[in-house]
Amino acid sequence: MKPMLDIRQLTKRYGGLLATDHVSLSLAPGELHAIIGPNGAGKTTLIGQLGGEVVPGSGSIEFDGQDITTLLPAQRALRGLARSYQITSVFPEFSVLENVALAMQAHRGHSFGFWTPMLKQAELVEPALRAIEQAGLSHRAGAMVSELAHGERRQLELAMVLVAEPKLLLLDEPMAGMSHQESGNVVRLLQGLKGRYTMLLVEHDMDAVFALADRISVLVYGRIIASGTPQEIRSNEEVKIAYLGDEALPL
Ligand code: ATP
Repeated sequence: MKPMLDIRQLTKRYGGLLATDHVSLSLAPGELHAIIGPNGAGKTTLIGQLGGEVVPGSGSIEFDGQDITTLLPAQRALRGLARSYQITSVFPEFSVLENVALAMQAHRGHSFGFWTPMLKQAELVEPALRAIEQAGLSHRAGAMVSELAHGERRQLELAMVLVAEPKLLLLDEPMAGMSHQESGNVVRLLQGLKGRYTMLLVEHDMDAVFALADRISVLVYGRIIASGTPQEIRSNEEVKIAYLGDEALPL
């Protein structure tokens, strides 16, 4: 099967430091692949290189059969590569539904129906309601964003990404700052999205990672030291050593 994402020898140098060091990785369509690694391993840099915010040093990124190595973040997004939790344009005094409908309109790239109230435009509202449901937020569709709890706000951000029907989701620490209960909700949510989207997950919550991932890659000092199923990663000696004294792996 043709990979959805094919990263070859991706490298990013900051002065004398290799933040990513010849990273190669391939994601099959529908796979949920997690990247773990100690602090400073290069996870954020790698996500930034994939999203296009971090200018590549060397190496190549092929997405859905096309070379996107030199494309800008917006060009990547248009091709279906979405980075979640990077939403800046959430309007707190608008409802959940209005915000997702606006995200849909922004994705389409033109403000058609400018004179028609947004919530009367079925071509915006219907996909928005579907995305809200996928993000597990249907019961809050009419709520103002300013009334949302932290976890619900992250769910809204996910809905705003899903409404564009991306092919690949880059999930950058979706559980960060969440309570145990909230991160449990996100795990269930992502379980529900598995198979429908290809997902690359960077996350420090090891219970979540091991519960969700089809495959896990371990990044240490910019290099992938191991790639495999959760079971293979759990029993990998090099991984165990890399994690000594850091977040414990759920073994
Ligand atoms: P964390 O888990 O703490 O978020 P990480 O795995 O995401 O860490 P990165 O943030 O990608 O790691 O950082 C990798 C290395 O690159 C670190 O040593 C960091 O200090 C360095 N680094 C990251 N961005 C820059 C930059 N813009 N300029 C210089 N060095 C940088």
